[in-house]
Amino acid sequence: MQIEENIPLRDYSTFRVGGPARYFFKADTGEELTEALTLAKEEKWPLFILAGGSNVIFPDSGFPGLVVLLAIAGVTVSGTTVTAGAAATMKELVDTAIEHGLAGIEWAGGLPGSFGGAIRGNAGAFRGETKDVVASVISIDHHSGQIRTRTNVECQFGYRDSIFKHVHEVIVEATLQLKPGDKAALREVADSRIAFRQERHPLEYPNVGSIFKNTPLEKVPDHWREHFNDFIKVDPFEIVPSGKIIQDAGLKGYQVGDAQVSEKHANYIVNLGHATASDIVQLIRHIRSTVKLKFGIELETEPEILTEETIV
Ligand SMILES: Cc1cc2nc3c(=O)[nH]c(=O)nc-3n(C[C@H](O)[C@H](O)[C@H](O)COP(=O)(O)OP(=O)(O)OC[C@H]3O[C@@H](n4cnc5c(N)ncnc54)[C@H](O)[C@@H]3O)c2cc1C
Repeated sequence: MQIEENIPLRDYSTFRVGGPARYFFKADTGEELTEALTLAKEEKWPLFILAGGSNVIFPDSGFPGLVVLLAIAGVTVSGTTVTAGAAATMKELVDTAIEHGLAGIEWAGGLPGSFGGAIRGNAGAFRGETKDVVASVISIDHHSGQIRTRTNVECQFGYRDSIFKHVHEVIVEATLQLKPGDKAALREVADSRIAFRQERHPLEYPNVGSIFKNTPLEKVPDHWREHFNDFIKVDPFEIVPSGKIIQDAGLKGYQVGDAQVSEKHANYIVNLGHATASDIVQLIRHIRSTVKLKFGIELETEPEILTEETIV
């Protein structure tokens, strides 16, 4: 096993922040992953599973245990069923499905990250959600090494949520059930999603996508509902875009160090060049407290934020 030491995590995070991983291992196969899980258990090292790094904020002090970079990829198609390794990128999945004239995942055009990451967080956009097409998921338990296969229902998907956020398991492979569709029309949908993202999102700076989940309408105090009335969307239930709330709290452009509330989309924090994780976490705290004070709304963070306190 080739365990590396002191590998800078900023190189594996789309935010480009984070100190070194004490130990680092790239797992290309299920066997290598199992070896890494066993080693972490024997050595009592804290363990972190990393894939595309598009939804995680690593602390400046780094990670004091083993970071396993998941590289189990590969996409196969059989009829309308697509099976892929957890580290397959969403781009590969979308492109493969479209090449085979399969519909159901084209909404994910431009969605960064891996298939496994999308399942864990039930990633979604443009009214589509990963859960809509997942048939089954295979995972390995961190501690026992036991392999489990779950059906869609057993994955307990919710808004940006699944059972995998609440258990210690690594998703290794999953199967999608898609439907026949028209290749050209599907390509057009995916390309329009990519273009929308390029136009509306601050992709010119390092970021991790939306910092806060959208706010369910029921969490908006009655006396503020009229204020947000024209912005209510169904995605996947009635929400007020958190970007609109942050913008109306006057926070667009607000900066802590080189971390800034994007001028282009207020639910994005961008790294203007030399932001630290600490700048970003301070900015997140400032946004949450300002919004709470102005609107009485509790914003809920979306990415995995690893701080010194949360590493156990
Ligand atoms: C520009 C931009 C736009 C985005 N737009 C959207 C959007 O529209 N909708 C949306 O939902 N998200 C969006 N995101 C967030 C992100 O793309 C998704 O959350 C993505 O699914 C994360 O996948 P990843 O492989 O990068 O995960 P990582 O960042 O590597 O990991 C995120 C978390 O998932 C865990 N994890 C990853 N792989 C596995 C696995 N195989 N088994 C178990 N746990 C695992 C990690 O331990 C970590 O806790 C966006 C991000 C960016 C940068």
